[in-house]
Amino acid sequence: MTIQTTRHEHPDVIVVGGGIGGLSAAYALSRKGLRVRVLESAAEFGEVGAGMQIAPNCTRILDEYGLLNEARQLGVLPEAMVMKDAVDGSELTRLDLKDLERKYGFPYMVIHRSDLHGIFLHACERAGVDLVNSQRAVGFENTGRGAAVTFEDGHVEEDRAAVPIEEVCRNDISEADVVLYVGPRCHFVQYPLRGGRMFNQVAVFQSPKALAGQEDWGTPDELDAAFEGTCEQVQQGLPLMWRDKWWRMFDRDPIMTWVHGRTVLLGDAAHPPLQYMAQGAIMAIEDGWVLAEHVGGQLDAGAPDVDWDHALAAYNAVRPEHCRRVLSTGRAWGELWHHDGLKRLQRNAILRARDTRDYTYTEWIYGPTALTPEEEPEMYPVIPLGSVDVNSDASTGRRPGLVTAG
Ligand SMILES: Cc1cc2nc3c(=O)[nH]c(=O)nc-3n(C[C@H](O)[C@H](O)[C@H](O)COP(=O)(O)OP(=O)(O)OC[C@H]3O[C@@H](n4cnc5c(N)ncnc54)[C@H](O)[C@@H]3O)c2cc1C
Repeated sequence: MTIQTTRHEHPDVIVVGGGIGGLSAAYALSRKGLRVRVLESAAEFGEVGAGMQIAPNCTRILDEYGLLNEARQLGVLPEAMVMKDAVDGSELTRLDLKDLERKYGFPYMVIHRSDLHGIFLHACERAGVDLVNSQRAVGFENTGRGAAVTFEDGHVEEDRAAVPIEEVCRNDISEADVVLYVGPRCHFVQYPLRGGRMFNQVAVFQSPKALAGQEDWGTPDELDAAFEGTCEQVQQGLPLMWRDKWWRMFDRDPIMTWVHGRTVLLGDAAHPPLQYMAQGAIMAIEDGWVLAEHVGGQLDAGAPDVDWDHALAAYNAVRPEHCRRVLSTGRAWGELWHHDGLKRLQRNAILRARDTRDYTYTEWIYGPTALTPEEEPEMYPVIPLGSVDVNSDASTGRRPGLVTAG
């Protein structure tokens, strides 16, 4: 994303990429009165894939944008998020999502990613954001007064400066909950979508072919092999999975500098995560909100024009550290899900000991998005797996926890 300071015939802000991150940032900045242009490489704006979970730290922002009711109509508010052992099917822990909504003031929602993308696309259209397709950026430079983006066709933009529900109902599947089965080197997620008419399933597994350095990895035969030892509920869901489409999972070590002159990163370009925390799109939406709040704060205070250096410094002071925590915790959370043997038993003991309404481990993430480093909440306390004696039971009174903090 590149940014400029003045507002006449050229946009104040150019956003490169019209995914959920780019569109939500464009909308956030346009609400502050800026002229925004989004340049997308694809011939049409759209999203591929299936469902996504959005937690209260995102629905809070949707509410502020006046988009929460639209999202409610398209999404589903599950009753609980239930974590189960993929091997024996037993419940390990759950979040009561109705109580979670009471605590944080905003709901936990599941929504088709194209619906969430569409909400931001239409909001941008209504707000007068300039939306341009078939524009692939190949380079940028800071110009001193702003930034210039070069596109594949040679031109330079310079600012002046899922599955139908009927197919799964017959199985032993909860339609009211988000259910996560965690197993050795694999996990399986299920939840309803589109007002309960669709059912989303996600199967994730470690690929032996990838570990062996082979090119052709993540294939359906690997899917079947990875879930061989799993419980009946998972086995019932597997035949309904797409077999012709899959995504290889990558993340990147966190980077702490997202601002380069008048060019700023947000969304997956800044912090591509593994999906274990279900916060990738949420972080992208938060990025745009934080940036717009710092810009809007100046304009509300009567500034005649935006001091971008100041706004971008404030953004960079808070967002990279928050996202570093999410990325690091996501990696650790994924490792925890995929344990086998003794570690699996230790994990299960910790999770079973957790009180359903204990929010110690969600406070740092589901509360209001921090605008400054001082507002960023403390991380949670850590319980090492090795401290759990699996021969004693949960009555030890140990408090549950994750393995590591970022
Ligand atoms: C299996 C899976 C499950 C997930 N579940 C969740 C979840 O439950 N909750 C959640 O919050 N997140 C989830 N995520 C993460 C989330 O999908 C991403 O973090 C989010 O979509 C990132 O949005 P983005 O706009 O930053 O990037 P993208 O969606 O990648 O958008 C980038 C856009 O930029 C365009 N573009 C790229 N290069 C150029 C260029 N050079 N010039 C012009 N345009 C360009 C692309 O065409 C695209 O439209 C999940 C991800 C996966 C893979």
